[in-house]
Order: sequence, then structure tokens, then C-alpha cells
Amino acid sequence: MTKGIWVFVEHRENLIKKVVFETLSEARKIADQIEDELCAVLIGKSNDSLVESLSEYGVDKIYLAENDVLKTYTTDGFTNVMSDLIRKYEPRALLIGCTINGRDLAAQVAQRLATGLLTDCTGIEVIDSQLVFTRPIYAGKATVKASCKTNPVIATIRPNTFAAVQNKKDPKIVKTVTDCGNIRQVVIDAVRQVSQRPELTEANVVVTGGRGIKGPENFKLLEELADVLGGAVGASRASVDAGWAPHSMQVGQTGKTVSPTLYIACGVSGAIQHFAGMSSSKCIFAINNDPEANIFKIADYGIVGDLFEVVPLLTEEFKKL
Ligand code: FAD
Repeated sequence: MTKGIWVFVEHRENLIKKVVFETLSEARKIADQIEDELCAVLIGKSNDSLVESLSEYGVDKIYLAENDVLKTYTTDGFTNVMSDLIRKYEPRALLIGCTINGRDLAAQVAQRLATGLLTDCTGIEVIDSQLVFTRPIYAGKATVKASCKTNPVIATIRPNTFAAVQNKKDPKIVKTVTDCGNIRQVVIDAVRQVSQRPELTEANVVVTGGRGIKGPENFKLLEELADVLGGAVGASRASVDAGWAPHSMQVGQTGKTVSPTLYIACGVSGAIQHFAGMSSSKCIFAINNDPEANIFKIADYGIVGDLFEVVPLLTEEFKKL
């Protein structure tokens, strides 16, 4: 009998990713429905503050797998440990945030255990005691509901999809013996871009610049607007390909998927591949000087105008609020 809904706890520099809390909150509801337990799996170096944060989100049990070699994420190390834990405890499901590391881990573990993987899910429900996941297909044009016949089902969860709701519990801590197996990668150094802005996939507001921004120097305009709104700055592939922004800022099919409360597209035409990365934004606002631009078909609000006039005006107005 498989038992437990597991959520992988992605953390870095003593901070747990927001998507973990969002996933735990949704998984708590599902666990209550099927009277199962909600477990967090913390691999790497843990500490009281990480455990404390998890206990705020309704976790029944925390599996701790600690080992110095797991201090930073490596595909081999985390896959070996997670696969062994799953073999030992046989959970019903493993939910992982759809982040860069999360996608890597989910695919590796699913392959290792020859079990089903559903990616980039935006909904979870219980139908006939089965976990059923909603996921966008055809670049967000449609959604499907899917379940897996194999156990455990592994699913990656799109950030910013579920609300993180606090629900204090006193979780049982299970320290597991950690044999990390053969690890072929060694992380020598991690060079981080220092930014005061939120991470693109976790931001509540995203301001994106397309080819209409006309050059790298003009991203400053978008940064000013993003800063007033506490948001992050994204880029279309055309801007990235032109060398105006790094690939880490690209939104779309071959970039990042974002689901902010507000998505402001500036000088973006609204190609299907761009749509794939931002269609689940709660409110889409477009600024484009072409009234026929495709982006207006999907936008909730739009301004037909020159972004070089509109964006500074918006920034000034938002500053007054
Ligand atoms: P354009 O299509 O050139 O649009 C620029 C817009 O700016 C126009 O609508 C124009 O009217 C407007 N504009 C110009 N000047 C101004 C101004 N002064 N004020 C206001 N508006 C102005 N694209 C992505 O974005 N992300 C992806 O991940 C991605 N993956 C892809 C994967 C594949 C396999 C393929 C084939 C394509 C992919 N693309 C992706 C590319 C995609 O098809 C489009 O080419 C790209 O999104 C266009 O970017 P854009 O909207 O910035 O540029």
C-alpha cells in the first residue's frame, strides 16, 4: 500500500523556494481529502529555520537526508537519494516545483524508477481515489487532465499557480541514512547574479521587453517600472537572440514559464511560443504601437502606443500610489 504525498523542498542559501510552500498548501488539501499524510523531503544541509518554515505549511512529516556532499544540488546526488527514499517508503506521489533543478530532478527520478511523470501542472484533484493533474498543452492553447497508472506519480508544479496558505503543524522528523551513491558531478563554485528584484518565475509582477524595446540600453525603462511595482523583468526571445538580455530572462516555450498576477508585455508581438510561457498570468497588459498585434488578442488590457512614451508615464503614475 503506497502512502504519503511527498513534496520536494528546494532550498538555497537557507531559503526555501516559494513554489514549495504553494505546493505544500495545495497538497495539504488533497492529503486531507484522501486521508493521507503530507510529507516534505529535505535533502542537503538542513537547519532549524528550514524545518520551522515547513511546519508553518501543514506538513505531517519531514524526511531529512543530510550529507555534506548534498550541500549543493547535483543531478546524481539528489537523484540517488530521492530514488532510494522512494523505494524505501513507497509514497503515493512526489510533487516537485517546476524550476530548473526541479525539472531536472523529476525527470531523472521518474526515469530511474520507471514511473510516470506529469510536467508543469496547474491543478490537482482527486477522482475515484486517483490523483488527477491538470496541465497546459499546445503552448497553453488547451489543458488536459491526466493521471498515472504507475506508483508513485511524479508531477512538477508550475510556480505561482497555488496560493501559499499557512497552517501550523508539528511535523514528525524522520532522519534517513544517506548513502549518496556515485556522484559524477562536483560543484566547484556557484556564481550568482545579484539582484534586488524577485526571481522571474516567482515574481507577482513581470515586465517584459520584446523587439520593440529596440536595444539593451532601453531595458532600463522596464527596470524602473518593475522596481516601482516590486516586479521582475523578462524578455522575449527576439530580445534575447539580439543579445539585449540574457537567456535567463527569456519567457516562453524555450525560456521560463511565469504565472504572475500582472504581466506587462512591452513591444512584444504575442507569438504562440511567447504565449506558452506567460499564458497563465492572471492579468495580461500589453503596450504595442501596432493595433493589430497578436498580443492584444490575449491581453486583458492594452494600450496602443509607443512604449517609450507609455512606460515612463506608467512608472511616474505608479510612483504616486
Ligand atoms: P516581434 O515579433 O518582432 O514583435 C515586436 C513588437 O514590438 C511588434 O508587435 C511591434 O509592433 C512592437 N513595437 C515596435 N516598436 C514599438 C514601440 N516603439 N512601442 C510599442 N511597440 C512597439 N519567443 C519567445 O518570446 N520566447 C520563447 O521561448 C520562444 N521560443 C521559440 C521556440 C521556437 C521553436 C520558435 C520557432 C520560436 C520561438 N520564439 C520564442 C520566437 C517567437 O516565434 C517570436 O519570434 C518572438 O516571440 C518574437 O519576439 P517579439 O515579440 O519581441 O518580436
